[in-house]
This record gives sequence, C-alpha cells and structure tokens, in this order.
Amino acid sequence: MAKEKERGDKDAEGADGGKRKTMGRRKPCKFCADDKIRIDYKDASLLKYFITDRGKLVPRRLSGNCAKHQREIAVAVNRARMIALMPFAVTGN
Ligand SMILES: [Zn+2]
Repeated sequence: MAKEKERGDKDAEGADGGKRKTMGRRKPCKFCADDKIRIDYKDASLLKYFITDRGKLVPRRLSGNCAKHQREIAVAVNRARMIALMPFAVTGN
C-alpha cells in the first residue's frame, strides 16, 4: 500500500509568497514605438489610458512612457480637463 502521491505538478502556489514584481523587462514608450499615434487632447479614449480610475495621471514608471511623451500626455490631459473631457479628481464612492 505504498501509493505515492505526486505533489506539485498541478499548481505550486504560495511558494514564493506572491512577491513578484515585473522587473527586467521595460516597456518601450508606446508613442515612440508607433509614431502614427498622435497625442490629442480631444482623444479621451486614448488619454483615459494614462489616468487612474480616480482621475489622476499615471506615473511614468507605470505608463511606460518616455519623458517627452509623458509630458505631452500630461499637457493633453490638462487640456482635456479644461473642456470637461477628463475628470480633475473622482470623488465620492
Ligand atoms: Zn516616447
């Protein structure tokens, strides 16, 4: 009755405590990679990609943009806010 049970081939979760960061691979700037994409303050569907669900600007380390394009995004978002395309801050529940 020595039935050996094979362990760990199904899923070995909890092995490294779930402390995993995406390191090593840096995303290239989306706009540098594709110069057909224009940063346009009227393009809310593009800009919403770079703000959090609270309406804040996503930091560059998260968005993966280069300094130049992150700056353009920031300017575009600010302009979009002026014409009420983008929220300044999302408050409430
Ligand atoms: Zn760029």
